Amino acid sequence: MKVPFLSFSPQHQPIREEIMTALGRVYDSQWYVLGQHVLDFEQAYSTFSGARYAVGVANGLDALHLSLLALGIGAGDEVIVPSNTYIATWLAISYVGATPVPVEPDPATYNIDPRRIEAAITARTRAIMPVHLYGQACEMTAIMQIARQHNLLVIEDNAQAQGASADGNLTGSMGHANGTSFYPGKNLGALGDAGAVTTNDEAVAEKIRTLRNYGSQRKYYNEVIGYNSRLDELQAAALSVKLHYLPEWTLQRQQVARWYDEQLAGIGDLQLPTTAEGSTHVYHLYVVRTAQRDALQQYLTAAEIGTLIHYPVPPHRQEAYAHLAIAEGQYPIAEELARTSLSLPMWPGMTIEHVAAVATAIRSFYAGA
Ligand SMILES: *Cc1c(COP(=O)(O)O)cnc(C)c1O
Repeated sequence: MKVPFLSFSPQHQPIREEIMTALGRVYDSQWYVLGQHVLDFEQAYSTFSGARYAVGVANGLDALHLSLLALGIGAGDEVIVPSNTYIATWLAISYVGATPVPVEPDPATYNIDPRRIEAAITARTRAIMPVHLYGQACEMTAIMQIARQHNLLVIEDNAQAQGASADGNLTGSMGHANGTSFYPGKNLGALGDAGAVTTNDEAVAEKIRTLRNYGSQRKYYNEVIGYNSRLDELQAAALSVKLHYLPEWTLQRQQVARWYDEQLAGIGDLQLPTTAEGSTHVYHLYVVRTAQRDALQQYLTAAEIGTLIHYPVPPHRQEAYAHLAIAEGQYPIAEELARTSLSLPMWPGMTIEHVAAVATAIRSFYAGA
């Protein structure tokens, strides 16, 4: 049985008419940028995230960048960031002229290890950027406590974990400003690029609204040097429809993960994802680890089972960050994860038969290896 890494069909086909009607309303309204659909989606998404404000922007990277700007982080500042995140988290820090300071993850959860954060704090540290990687909420109670003790700001990268929670608090509702992404493959995906900042601070929300729209609150009067990073009406209309279904899709992802947990237990050196106590996991990705990662991936590709590697090169080993001169081996956990991690197919609507086909192929790889 062929199992694609990701299929949108079970999500998108049943709501096709609803989406087309919503897009049609935007088309007929003749108002395409910053109108009622964006306002409605912002309202709905802030309610969903448990944050007082949500401000729609053009994509997730902009959401992180504008969050750092709105919090006044800039040149000379250091920002603590996981050593094993997607490059976007680091890029946002670089855009404002600050320096990313990597902290290693807990290899069991793949999330930044709060026990390692304090050792990375210096006189220049201004903020911590936890990333709820693969859909699991970070250990936020510990992280927020460290931030309070050291007077640091917190910017959650919530691109992968919409709807997850840590000790009962929803991701995107705890930091001072938080970025999320609605890139099509994310748990809540637009039909193109889109993102949002969530915050409980009205002044921060106002700053983001200004920054996303040329630094202007009043048309043709510019208070600051802003950007064009607006969420457009068509994307907002589609997102409002899809947000409705997100809780159900999350339950389906969690069911698929439980099937994987059952069917992949105890196979060879395969390590399955674990969830920290107090955290929930919305399984943007189901990431396993093995020393034979590349061989397993080739085997699964030949069996028509789609997999991806998130991520093959940690940010500190990317050419883009060569100027930081971080030697190989300085962040061994991130490097080990990059060598051993493999993301298995994960999408709402995957059936137990799909999961069984993946598990059977993995078992036969280990039987022959
Ligand atoms: C997708 C993603 C982003 C960036 O989102 P875009 O909408 O693609 O700009 C940032 N951080 C993480 C962890 C992501 O997965």
